[in-house]
Amino acid sequence: MAAVALVNCTGDRDAPDAGGFRAGSVDLDDPYVPGSGNGGYDVGHYRLAVRYDPADDRLTGKAEVTATATQPLSRFNLDLAGLDVSSVTVDGAPAKHRHADGELVVTPRQGLGSGSRFTVEVAYAGVPAAVADGVLGSGGFQHTDDGAIALGQPHSAATWFPVNDHPSDKATYDIEVTVPDGLAALSNGVPGERTSADGWTTWRWAERSPMASYLTTLVIGDYRVETGSHAGKPLVTAVPAGLPATGAEAASLARTGEIADFLAGRFGPYPFEAYGGVVVADNRIGYALETQSRPVYGPGFFRTGEPNFGVVAHELAHQWFGNSVALARWGDIWLNEGFASYAEWLWEEHDGGRSAQRSFETQYAATDWSRPTLDPGPGQMFSSAVYKRGALTVHALRRTVGDDAFFQILRAWTTERRDATATTDDFVALAERISGRSLGPFFDTWLTGTAPPALP
Ligand SMILES: [Zn+2]
Repeated sequence: MAAVALVNCTGDRDAPDAGGFRAGSVDLDDPYVPGSGNGGYDVGHYRLAVRYDPADDRLTGKAEVTATATQPLSRFNLDLAGLDVSSVTVDGAPAKHRHADGELVVTPRQGLGSGSRFTVEVAYAGVPAAVADGVLGSGGFQHTDDGAIALGQPHSAATWFPVNDHPSDKATYDIEVTVPDGLAALSNGVPGERTSADGWTTWRWAERSPMASYLTTLVIGDYRVETGSHAGKPLVTAVPAGLPATGAEAASLARTGEIADFLAGRFGPYPFEAYGGVVVADNRIGYALETQSRPVYGPGFFRTGEPNFGVVAHELAHQWFGNSVALARWGDIWLNEGFASYAEWLWEEHDGGRSAQRSFETQYAATDWSRPTLDPGPGQMFSSAVYKRGALTVHALRRTVGDDAFFQILRAWTTERRDATATTDDFVALAERISGRSLGPFFDTWLTGTAPPALP
């Protein structure tokens, strides 16, 4: 699943070339995603233009990546899984490049000084490959009956564009997708102008808030797209055209604005410039993902035929917890999933269901305390120790510091860390600062202790 680091690069990653320039590191040493991400630069913006033809499953792309060198840089890597690269330029000049094992190694004609801003243009094409063994299940770029879906955590982006594929390097995006007339092409952010020529339609999307790469998505196919607005911002939802306009899927998405407003009342202002959601029908998508400003929901959440507002609350809560405030390292994923799971409890209580306290008590009784919430291990990133025990920790914090301090902590977190990344240590420090209490032992017990903690 992860790209493998080039063996012949690691030996000399610290050796300076003439002039003091040296190669950027080929991965970020995050044990949850070996080989993913790259060092030596920080991406500011991706401008992507891709064309996809479902008839032959072929993608043609041009990526313009604007970045800043964070060291004197002789060469650097981008993650790109599969596909064939035809040309690479750096600041308009042809650059040497090598592409193997998921790594595109780019050597600009001249070294890049630390702090210098540069633009890489990559032209590429091919039949994209799915991520076969993703932790979350099927992911990456997947051909569907009527188009394609690019989706997945922690990996997916590198299957359709060259990218620094780690959440610690967030960037803004312009995404242009050209598909045969009659198909929809949905992505993140604010919709732009749609144009058609010669049987092809180009859909344009702009994500102006920094976005982690795994939160990018493409959904191409035969969809019923509804474009409206909510709270003065565009709201774009889509369900497969084959599903009823008044079915469980459409009914669930219809409360997107209302649920986002409820969460804004608890967490602080909605952090992005657009709202939305996309339901897909492909059974390989056995999950929902909080793709920025426009979550994607797999078909399994609507099997009962009843609307599912819990999953909408979960994915929308991630817009604050996980997207706007993103992870610096995957071992802290409870900062995403614990809070999003807790949001389900808050929404259920608000919507006339059981109280958050009752959810806490039920979950507490059912929890296996031998599994840690913090640093759960790569195979346990999406386990109940992260989601449910994470939510227990959040509610236990609320009981310990009281409602006023608790919601003040959440709002300070989403304000002070907006559009940035953060760690568990950052959260503990913030909670201690606002509550005026020493909380180290509390978090140790709830996040990693192996015995049931005393009830607060
Ligand atoms: Zn989640």
